Formats: sequence, C-alpha cells, structure tokens
Amino acid sequence: MRRARVVVVGAGVVGLSSAVCVAEALPFCSVTLLAEKFSPHTTSDGAAGILFPAEFPDVPVERQRRWFKSSFDHLLDIAQSQHSPEAGVMLSSGWQIFKDASADKKPFWSELVIGFRFMTDSELKRFPDHKFGQAFTTIKCECSSYLPWLEKRFRRAGGQVEQRKANSLQELSNSYDVIVNCSGLGSKLLVGDNELHPIRGQVLKVEAPWLHHFIKDADRKTYIYPGMHCVTIGGTRQEGDWRLEVDEGDTKSILERCGRLEPSIGKAKVLDEWVGLRPSRRNPRVEREAVQLQGRRVPVVHNYGHGASGVTLAWGTALDALGLVRQSLHEVLPQAKL
Ligand SMILES: Cc1cc2nc3c(=O)[nH]c(=O)nc-3n(C[C@H](O)[C@H](O)[C@H](O)COP(=O)(O)OP(=O)(O)OC[C@H]3O[C@@H](n4cnc5c(N)ncnc54)[C@H](O)[C@@H]3O)c2cc1C
Repeated sequence: MRRARVVVVGAGVVGLSSAVCVAEALPFCSVTLLAEKFSPHTTSDGAAGILFPAEFPDVPVERQRRWFKSSFDHLLDIAQSQHSPEAGVMLSSGWQIFKDASADKKPFWSELVIGFRFMTDSELKRFPDHKFGQAFTTIKCECSSYLPWLEKRFRRAGGQVEQRKANSLQELSNSYDVIVNCSGLGSKLLVGDNELHPIRGQVLKVEAPWLHHFIKDADRKTYIYPGMHCVTIGGTRQEGDWRLEVDEGDTKSILERCGRLEPSIGKAKVLDEWVGLRPSRRNPRVEREAVQLQGRRVPVVHNYGHGASGVTLAWGTALDALGLVRQSLHEVLPQAKL
C-alpha cells in the first residue's frame, strides 16, 4: 500500500506549525513543506511575536479560546525548557494600557495568560494619558529563531522541504493526496481570495537592555516589546497598503509615540527597521474544501488569514488543520495506514 502524500504550502509560522503537527502525528504519511520563501524572508520573521489574541467577529469564542490556549501552552512548555534560547521563546511580563476606560476590561483570554490583574493607580501614574490598564505575563516568540527550530523538528520527523512557488493548486494535485494551504497573503492569488488584504506594519529594533517589561497601548498601534537580543518598538496598521519600503515618517512617529510611553526610548540606538504585511481578513480561514482539479475532487485544508495574530494562534490552528487532514485522508484513502 502506498504512503499518503501531504503537501503544506507556506513556511511562515502557520505553515511550519502545520507541517510539524502533521509530520509528527501521521508518521506513515509523506509530508512535503513547499514554499517560495523561507526564514528569514517571511512575514512571520519580523513579527514582534508577542502572544496577544485579537477577537474575530464570526469565530465562536470557544474556538478562539482553544486556538489561543493550545498555542500558549505549547510555547510555554518551550519557554520553560532548555530549548528556550535556540527556539527564541521566552516569558514576557508587562502592561496593556487604555485611554478609553469603557473598553472590555476582562477579555476571554484573561484567564489563559499568567497572573492577569488590573493595574493599580500607582502603576498607572507613569502613563498620565491612560485611564485603565491590565498587567499580566504572556509569551514572546521570536520567529527568526523559532522558524529554523521548527524546520529542524519537521525534518527530524521525516518531513521534506522544497523551495519553489506554486502557481496554482492544479500543479500540485497530481503529486499529492491532500494540499494544506498556509500561504498567508499569497492566498489572494493562489486560491483567489478577494477578502484577504494587507495591513502594513512597520517596526524598529532598538538596543535598550534596561527595558524588561512590555508596554502596549490598546490602540494596537503603539508598543514596546523587550526581547532576547533587542527591543521591538512599533508600529503602524495601514489597511490595504502594499508598500514594503521603510517610511521615514513612520519611523519618526514610532519613536515619538513610544517615547511618550517610555521616555528612555530616546536614548536607545536604532539597530534595524522592518516592514511586513499582515495577511488579514474578517476571520482566519481554517476549513476544508474539496476543489475540482483535473477531473477529480482534491481535498484542500485552508489555514491562513491570521492578520495580527499569526504567532499567537499558529499552533492552535495547526492542530485544527491536522484534524482536517486526518478527515480528508480517511475519505480519499480509506485503506491507508495513518
Ligand atoms: C509589524 C508586524 C508585527 C507583528 N506582530 C505580531 C505579534 O506580536 N504577534 C502575533 O501573533 N502576530 C504578529 N504579527 C502578525 C504575524 O506576522 C502574521 O499573522 C503571521 O506572520 C502570518 O503567518 P503566515 O505563516 O500565515 O504567513 P507568512 O509568514 O507570510 O508566510 C507565508 C508563506 O507562504 C509562502 N507562499 C505564499 N504564496 C506562495 C505560493 N504561491 N507558493 C509557495 N509558497 C507561497 C511564502 O513564501 C511564505 O513562506 C505581526 C505582523 C507585522 C507585520
């Protein structure tokens, strides 16, 4: 009996997480990771990588909770292991601060992070423009280390890697039984998803080793995230903007806004500037579709469109994708050993 063949398209955090989940759980399958770009050239590589869920309007809260909890628990295990430095995963404590006191004070994820509480008046004193705040510990996952670490794990599980662009699903359908589509913003062309659009984000990496706590303005545009080797400060959220060049105006605005939250930012040396395009849609697409290709119905498992929460939700949606791959294989190869 031949081995079932699965291809995962995309080597960002969503594709690599999906590829590892499938390769480790289904050792009798042949799993190929196919992507045009690998680390350090994906969007995921430059993400600040803080675990912080956004809420999606049409995904049941229970499902969002499961995506976040699975991702958090998976990364917490790594952060608390000897793999932490190589994988680039660490605990990160700090504050989310609000100008608008009527905001949702206790979001669904508050019981899933560590030590969630409201900030005291004395803690809030250093942020005079803000009326309310949350203090908690979450995780920072630096994808420039995490992606190569996941790729090693994938290869150890027997996975194969191929670097090329897929111009259509059709060109993959002869070689694979199931296609897992984790192509991020690439899905706009690959599967013709017109709902998908970029939200441009610019960040700076600065040297400020005296900063240890994250500070995030609830406007989602201004943040300071200390990491293992430098501090990521940001940012911008420019809807429908495809520019990948650094914008000097954005750099100035980021330094100014972050300096208002943490004046010592003015003393930090700028090490790098980076722009990425968040693969955004109203809700992430994590579902199965049977696509008619060359006269047969080929199962395609979609896992893309995570917007600003790809690092936050990747492991959770990858586990859902694994479940959908299993169902698909049972249908197309009912006699296969899985
Ligand atoms: C400035 C900024 C800060 C961010 N901060 C955070 C944060 O703190 N926390 C968080 O959770 N998220 C954050 N994000 C969001 C996060 O970066 C994304 O949600 C995540 O990277 C999406 O991952 P992905 O794997 O879907 O896409 P990508 O990383 O874009 O990977 C897509 C992959 O698909 C491949 N591909 C595409 N089309 C094809 C094709 N036709 N053939 C072959 N391969 C193809 C690409 O080459 C690539 O390998 C941030 C984003 C930005 C821009």
